[in-house]
Amino acid sequence: EYSQKWTEVDNYLVGHLVEDDPVLQQVLDNNHQAGLPAHDVAPNQGKLLALFAQITGAQKVLEIGTLGAYSTIWLARALPALGKVVTLEADAHHARIAQTNIDLVGLQDKITLHTGPASETLPTLTAEAPFDLIFIDADKPSNPLYLEWALKLSKPGTLIIGDNVVRDGAVVDPQSDDARVQGVRRFIEMIEQEPRLSATALQTVGSKGWDGFVLARVNS
Ligand code: SAM
Repeated sequence: EYSQKWTEVDNYLVGHLVEDDPVLQQVLDNNHQAGLPAHDVAPNQGKLLALFAQITGAQKVLEIGTLGAYSTIWLARALPALGKVVTLEADAHHARIAQTNIDLVGLQDKITLHTGPASETLPTLTAEAPFDLIFIDADKPSNPLYLEWALKLSKPGTLIIGDNVVRDGAVVDPQSDDARVQGVRRFIEMIEQEPRLSATALQTVGSKGWDGFVLARVNS
């Protein structure tokens, strides 16, 4: 089985390159104990998000899809002292666990969590825009809507990251009856047709299986 090898390689890479962090491990344990689905990014993906934030010099980050705030905490820790993350979560139970984790790690001044469907909370964020980095990781059928909002809340140079765009290869099926696949396909086609964006996407394998992410930069 390939996937076992992918996990072994992830463990090897994480063991060497991603610092052991008891606090982040505690967050994952809390999420598991609270019954949250294990849909958090992998540790090496969390570190990649942190590196993207640092490489772009991001001060203001928007995340759509908090779950237990694992990726949120990776992002917030990568920001300068006055940096902020705004994160959006629809599920009240997920949001409660996320806020507990944020308080536990002492990042309540850096992270603002809005509970409610992102379609309702995104329109309240115009005063806080523009964001320097936007991580789209919520319900995939809504990705087209989230891309529209990401463009509204961005500026030239903003980096937009969209997770889970490969879905075990299902993304190539135009006839798919999976609304998540259709959401991701529409998302990719909208990026293709958007002259303000310059983009690429990569497939990934690892402890979370076969998937991938889109990286898009707002040019103008
Ligand atoms: N970014 C998180 C991490 O890596 O730790 C994982 C996010 S998980 C893949 C997706 C989250 O989006 C879930 O917690 C789910 O409840 C949330 N979600 C689903 N529909 C949503 C919506 N309409 N608005 C906001 N969040 C939503």
